[in-house]
This record gives sequence, structure tokens and C-alpha cells, in this order.
Amino acid sequence: MDVVQQLLQWQQAHSSKALYCVIGDPIKQSKSPLMLNRAFEECSIDATYGAFQVAPDQLPQFVQAVRELGILGMNVTIPHKLHVMELIDEIDADALNLGAVNTVVNRNGRLIGYNTDGIGYVRSLKEEAVANITNKKIVVVGAGGAARGIIYALLQENPSSIYVINRTVAKAKELVASLQSNVPLLAAGQAELEQLCNDADIVINTTSVGMYPHPDETPIAGHWMKFGAVASDLIYNPLKTQFLLEAEQHGCIAHGGLGMFIYQGAFAFEYWTGQTAPVEAMRETVLAVLQ
Ligand code: NAP
Repeated sequence: MDVVQQLLQWQQAHSSKALYCVIGDPIKQSKSPLMLNRAFEECSIDATYGAFQVAPDQLPQFVQAVRELGILGMNVTIPHKLHVMELIDEIDADALNLGAVNTVVNRNGRLIGYNTDGIGYVRSLKEEAVANITNKKIVVVGAGGAARGIIYALLQENPSSIYVINRTVAKAKELVASLQSNVPLLAAGQAELEQLCNDADIVINTTSVGMYPHPDETPIAGHWMKFGAVASDLIYNPLKTQFLLEAEQHGCIAHGGLGMFIYQGAFAFEYWTGQTAPVEAMRETVLAVLQ
């Protein structure tokens, strides 16, 4: 059955409830439905959150159906975070500047796009590892979509500098050149990684190196880090990567990627409902399926 038909049937089956969804391709592994349905339940909101596998060529019709069927909110994941921007009615300034939308709010048929990935990461970093990022020296390893979102949000916190290091140096240079900031934002090559880690207060792995099914791999050796520095990884499967394990053994504070996932969902929940997200219940639900 066509995915727009699936959405229509789902909407008819739950027509008494407020409806939200996540779209992606693939989407089967997404933990968002579990996490957001728990959040609605916890806050006694009569809502349902579903997941839909939407191929790129189905995206325009699907977005139009969301608008017309009164689906109140939508999360957007890979590969639709850029293309969806052309299909909605308004884009928040930060999402526009960083060039990706992962959350859509439907206000009376007007679709408004936001990006909660970067701010979700920063909220998690501040809640779980380091309360104040101002004047900190930061090293970001990787220059993909996730790196872009978190660097954009980190720049708003006025760190002392951010170095971006990527296997493909040209991509790090491109990313740095595309972001405007008063904070020194610099690209560097792999050869400088050890030295930069040695001097950094916060080192963040945004590459997929170390993710399941290759949990023994790491792009950063733990002993390159300064004692007491924060080692942060966007990966949450495993919950503690090899990088974090090694850095922790070396006297660093380990910060895993689960919090970013929880808080990007928490911000979306807050944009949709205007209520504070039940973060601990959301975390408990996701942890239960990951462990
Ligand atoms: P992406 O756009 O595909 O970027 C991948 C990055 O990893 C690129 O910089 C790439 O370098 C680098 N990389 C890949 N394989 C590498 C290797 N073998 N050695 C060195 N560098 C390598 O992916 P993304 O969307 O940014 O996601 C990156 C990671 O963040 C994934 O692990 C993803 O699961 C995680 N993530 C977590 C959350 C969360 O909520 N916690 C959210 C989003 C993403 P090149 O440019 O040289 O290819």
C-alpha cells in the first residue's frame, strides 16, 4: 500500500487523538515512537506517534498529506532533512542557517520547520558532563551532517575555539567556511589530531567509527586526552564506545550519544505541546530497549 494511504488509514484509526509521526528511509530501527509515546503517556496527553517509511520520491505527497490531515507534528530523519525544507511553509532561522530540518510543527495547516539535533546535543552535554561550555577548547572529529548541527549549536555557547578534524580534510574546510561566527572555528588534518586532543577541554567524536557492529574501533585514542577533559561521542549503540572507555580509564569524563537522542526528542515534544518533556521517563524507555 502507498505510504500516503497508510497515513490516511492510520489517521482514521486514531482520529480522536492528537497525531505525530517520524519519517525516514529506513525507519524500522527508530526508537522515536517508543520514546515519544511514553512521553505523551507520562504527561497524560491523548496522542499517538507513528513511524512511516517514506522514499524520497514520496516525500512531497506525504508532507502535503500531513498538512491536510492535521497531523500535529513530524520528526524527519535521514535522508529527508534537506529536501523537506523545500516542502514546508516556514523555517526557523537556526534551522535555515544550519541547513537542515528534523522537526516540523503543524500550526493550522502551516508547516514550520526546526532543528533540534544541535540544541539537543548541547543540552545533553551541559546536563550530563559540563555545565558551562564558555571559553572551552573544543575538538570535533568528523564533518558530516551531525557535526554541522552540533557545531552550529556549540558556537552559540561562546567556546574559546572549535577545531574540526575529518578524514576528508576538504569537507572539514568546507564546513568551517560555511558557518559564520566570532568564535575561532578552524579545520585541521588527521596529523594534528593527537596534539589538539592533548590540549582540548572537550573532544567530540561525530564519526560513525566505533558504532555497532564494530565496537572495538575508535578514531581517537583515550590517552591522547588531557586528564579531566570531557570525551563525548554521538554514538549510543554501544552506550559507551571504545573511545569513551579508554578516555574514562585515562581520567576523563565520558559523555555518550544517548542524551543527544533523548533531548532532540524532548525539544520536539516541547515545540509541539508547549509542555516540559518528561526526560527521565523517555531515557528509561530507550535504555530498556538498548540494554
Ligand atoms: P555522515 O553525514 O555520513 O558523516 C559521517 C562522518 O564520519 C564523516 O565525517 C566521515 O568522514 C566520517 N567517517 C566515516 N567513516 C569513517 C572512518 N572509517 N574513518 C574516519 N572517519 C570516518 O553521518 P552523520 O549523520 O553525521 O552521523 C555521524 C554519527 O553520528 C553516526 O554514528 C550517527 O549514528 C551519530 N548520530 C547520533 C545522533 C544522536 O542522536 N546521538 C544523531 C545523529 C547522528 P568523511 O567525510 O571522510 O567520509
